[in-house]
Amino acid sequence: MTYVITKLCVDCKDVACTQVCPVDCIYEYSGDDESIPKNMLLIDPDECIDCNACVPECPWEAIFEEDDVPDIFNDDTELNARIMGVERFVPNRDEDQKLPTPDELNANNEKWGYKP
Ligand code: SF4
Ligand code: SF4
Repeated sequence: MTYVITKLCVDCKDVACTQVCPVDCIYEYSGDDESIPKNMLLIDPDECIDCNACVPECPWEAIFEEDDVPDIFNDDTELNARIMGVERFVPNRDEDQKLPTPDELNANNEKWGYKP
């Protein structure tokens, strides 16, 4: 089992999740393969210890336990696994990072066709 970051994370760049992960397994990709996105973070499924700490911390509600990933984000489980063994780093959070408003959260969900 692992946790999965979905496309709801795209362009959010909040990175609050990385600040609470006890094993530092949430990464930003830094290589040259254009099929692995750099505008979202990805969880290494081999390193994740299923602690759930990142889920309540994500202001965009983008993280799910593997079994609970919404159908429209099914491809993201495989996408997260692609962060294994590639160039990557754990980003730090900007102290001035603003949290999304409820309207922004809803708009992001709608953008991806996700109905919580
Ligand atoms: S806190 Fe959520 S939206 Fe922000 S980088 Fe982490 S997974 Fe993505
Ligand atoms: S569930 Fe725990 S170990 Fe896995 S990514 Fe989230 S904080 Fe890290």
